[in-house]
Amino acid sequence: MDILTVKDLCKTYGTGDLKVDALKNASFSVSKGEFVVIVGPSGSGKSTLLNLLGGLDTPTSGRVFLDGKDLFTMKEKELSVFRRRNIGFIFQAYNLVPELNVEENVILPLLLDYRKPDQNYIDELLGILGLTDRKHHLPNQLSGGQQQRVAIGRALATKPALILADEPTGNLDSKNSQEVISLMKLSVERYKQTLLMITHNQSYASLADRVLGVEDGKVTDLGGTEQ
Ligand code: ADP
Ligand code: ADP
Repeated sequence: MDILTVKDLCKTYGTGDLKVDALKNASFSVSKGEFVVIVGPSGSGKSTLLNLLGGLDTPTSGRVFLDGKDLFTMKEKELSVFRRRNIGFIFQAYNLVPELNVEENVILPLLLDYRKPDQNYIDELLGILGLTDRKHHLPNQLSGGQQQRVAIGRALATKPALILADEPTGNLDSKNSQEVISLMKLSVERYKQTLLMITHNQSYASLADRVLGVEDGKVTDLGGTEQ
């Protein structure tokens, strides 16, 4: 079953001399439970694609269907709620709330949705992320790697159907990176989640079910990877 369907998606930034065709007629589908890695040179359109898939930006033309819902026909408010319930975002910028401690940051998307956090799951998540003894600390009392792990915890806390990650291990050392990738794979398998991840790390591409290549705004299915 396809959870994500992308049809003729285009994004053009600017006009005249400054016009950039960042995404050119992207069309592809992703099945529920798939782990897809997105690779491509810097400036090729990967972040543009990910932002559109998450409904964080609007396309110049084309459509994105998530779980059958057409993202760009929803009203802003409806899209905002839909996003919070269905998509976990992990960006390079952590976007933590400085006044909230680690645990509060992690459960925030649930609270914003008036959902009661499953404390056992949150404790387990904090444990796997190595944040148990930091749960009452504020973001500015943490290292970059710890902050990144809080952001990952926040993205996973709602058990979203779709996880969109833009270089989630970009600021972590190789040991932490491996742990974070293992955690994400564990979460994806356990909760039948779908994961789309931009990465420059070739070794993660080999863990994925499928690789999408982006080059000069064109998305190509590079197929599955040898296990
Ligand atoms: P990648 O994530 O692969 O590095 P991006 O999606 O960030 O690539 O960028 C694709 C192209 O779109 C680049 O040429 C970039 O300069 C341009 N671009 C990205 N965001 C904007 C923006 N907000 N305004 C104008 N141009 C942009
Ligand atoms: P929305 O428009 O739904 O409020 P955003 O576009 O701001 O959401 O953010 C996208 C996702 O990131 C949502 O799932 C939201 O819950 C989460 N998010 C954004 N900012 C924060 C934050 N400061 N703390 C916790 N979660 C956040």
